[in-house]
Amino acid sequence: MMTRLPKSNCLLTGKGHRLRRAVDFLAMLFHRTTRCKGCGQLRGTSAIPLPNGTRLHYCERCRGEVSKFYADPLQLEELRGILETIPVNREKVWQLPWGTTRDQVLDLVSPQRAEMFRSSQSPTLMGYDAIMGARTVRITFIFPNGELDEVHFEPVDTALLDARPLFNNRYGRPSSERSFPGLLDNNERHTAWKAEGYEVELSQNDNGGMGFSFRRPHA
Ligand SMILES: [Zn+2]
Repeated sequence: MMTRLPKSNCLLTGKGHRLRRAVDFLAMLFHRTTRCKGCGQLRGTSAIPLPNGTRLHYCERCRGEVSKFYADPLQLEELRGILETIPVNREKVWQLPWGTTRDQVLDLVSPQRAEMFRSSQSPTLMGYDAIMGARTVRITFIFPNGELDEVHFEPVDTALLDARPLFNNRYGRPSSERSFPGLLDNNERHTAWKAEGYEVELSQNDNGGMGFSFRRPHA
């Protein structure tokens, strides 16, 4: 009775605590039944903080992979090095003329690479993983109308929160920027630049996933 706070304060504090506990409890219940943000199949039991402070839940199986993704993030300088090794101009991308068909690409590349390409089942995509710098990068050749129109590069096991400064530096002011909700409760941003005879597009999400494309410009 002696230590009792005035009624209003007591009510306020008590209410706050109860509310917070209720929220924590609901969050715990919710997270227990949350599916893994990696595979989307198993239960997400480990919370992993992202570079932007959000915590996402992953299953034990995906956890190791995801921790690696954030443990050794891609540096802008590394990305610059990777960009500099990609030959692209108004005629060709990655040594292949824009507009080449799938079959022509298979004839133009080395037998070893053609073999990797042949394992792609999709009629509009062919790709393989390459080591660029010290990173594994997935390179995808895209044939939307049967002709090579876009080549997409995606570092597969590392995060980079914002690559825009590097691209702004290389290509000047972006020609377009758009943002939309991603699949994993994050935002995706697409930024495009017009270069000399081709276009560049950077896609990034809040979780540090990123990729970029070179595209044949259309009149
Ligand atoms: Zn998983």
